Amino acid sequence: MTYIMWFRQDLRLTDNPALSHAVEQGTIIPIYILDDENAGDRKMGAASRWWLHYSLTDLNNSLRDHLQFLKGDAFEIIKEIVNNNDVEGIYWNRCYEPWRIKRDKKIKEWLKEKDMQTESFNGSLLWEPWDKQIYKDDGTPYRVFTPFYRKGCLKADTPRKPLDRPDRIDYGDINLSGVKLEELNLLPEIQWDTQMKKEWHIGEEGARNRLVEFIENGLSDYKDGRNFPAQQNVSRLSPHLHWGEISPNQVWCAAQREGENKNTDHFMSELGWREFSYSLLYHFPDIDTENLQDKFDNFPWKDNKDKLKAWQKGQTGYPIVDAGMRELWQTGYMHNRVRMIVGSFLVKNLLIHWHHGEQWFWDCLVDADAASNTASWQWVAGTGADAAPYFRIFNPITQGEKFDKAGEYTRKYVPELKHIPDKYLFKPWEAPDDILKEANIKLGEDYPEPIVDVKASRERALEAFESLKG
Ligand code: FAD
Repeated sequence: MTYIMWFRQDLRLTDNPALSHAVEQGTIIPIYILDDENAGDRKMGAASRWWLHYSLTDLNNSLRDHLQFLKGDAFEIIKEIVNNNDVEGIYWNRCYEPWRIKRDKKIKEWLKEKDMQTESFNGSLLWEPWDKQIYKDDGTPYRVFTPFYRKGCLKADTPRKPLDRPDRIDYGDINLSGVKLEELNLLPEIQWDTQMKKEWHIGEEGARNRLVEFIENGLSDYKDGRNFPAQQNVSRLSPHLHWGEISPNQVWCAAQREGENKNTDHFMSELGWREFSYSLLYHFPDIDTENLQDKFDNFPWKDNKDKLKAWQKGQTGYPIVDAGMRELWQTGYMHNRVRMIVGSFLVKNLLIHWHHGEQWFWDCLVDADAASNTASWQWVAGTGADAAPYFRIFNPITQGEKFDKAGEYTRKYVPELKHIPDKYLFKPWEAPDDILKEANIKLGEDYPEPIVDVKASRERALEAFESLKG
């Protein structure tokens, strides 16, 4: 008997509940469908597509070249497969983006009408967002992280232990109107990916190696070290988790094996933030467009294309902001501390709507995630459920001085400031002329003058916030 295994954001063989179930039933046909039709405004960005191409290549190798690639409306494709072939059932791991939930429900109903065996599994979250154990006592979902995690997650059933990779997979043979991986056109037409290729080992093995490396070298100083972008204390597992090259259960259990201490606890709580973001996305499916606090609907955002562009390109004149934006552009990733700094700068110092930041990240991040990206942008903007208060405005100068004291991170991504002494690195406009000359810098030519005054823009942001109260 033949079963379809529909891979989605679970691009791995180990700890893949749907795959393990499918191979126990009989022979399988593994498929991947690129469904831009149902995604609507939430089509994957360029960096995500890039990652996906290599992740599918890796998965196909693990499946001994049996992965079938399809393109189009997943509902129509599945109908065609089922109507034209002798298959018994179809299995997949669940996704939680609102458009996918809607589409998958429709597909499941249709398959049930056809008497097909069909089942979906949890392959990407530690706790399902509808699990009542992670609800408040009054039966409503948490809107604040700490009680969600401490009273919900940590008191709920412990997450499932990871499943082994199937010992053996038998492949079936059916007629499919599949295409070649290259025909999914996931790679960019212009080559902007040279640095990105060097940065990542994409796929299941790369994810496993990353986890091992982090547990051995990063975890022991995670709690403090995670704030410093030049240090190797964060896992950089986010794209691997997003694409399901590793499951949160594998990561959670590996951390747990290291024993309880402030570093593992903190690391596990960050996985908790991922769960919290999914809970918010599930319960507030408009989170990508609507402020969770509706008082911000009247916020006087400013439209300023030039300033937005300067921010996107890492040309704001604030070195830590520019370093972050260039890290994003070159590697598809940005350190969390710097994500918060550049986010605050955009929405508070520039007063540009968080949607613009969210969309740029969506296009550029290899870990772009409908739950974590939107929830984090709302957090940064102060519009979210459990957000940093709007009046907490990161100062890009002191943040740089505090978290990149020796300037290692900033100089890496803003090499034109390589020779500026530490004292002026985060405020080069204050450097005397002879120092600038010695460092080979002409402000406004080699490196931009600041595009806003940090003090005045802070005051302006606070006034804008006050105006909401009136
Ligand atoms: P680690 O510190 O090693 O954490 C381990 C894992 O926990 C991460 O891989 C991630 O899955 C999860 N995690 C950590 N912090 C958070 C968080 N604040 N929220 C949700 N999950 C978290 N994360 C994404 O995965 N995708 C996004 O699109 C995304 N957009 C963001 C946008 C903004 C403006 C901000 C401030 C944060 C965003 N984050 C996003 C959250 C966070 O920055 C990244 O998850 C983290 O930097 C990934 O690096 P890491 O794997 O080394 O994290």
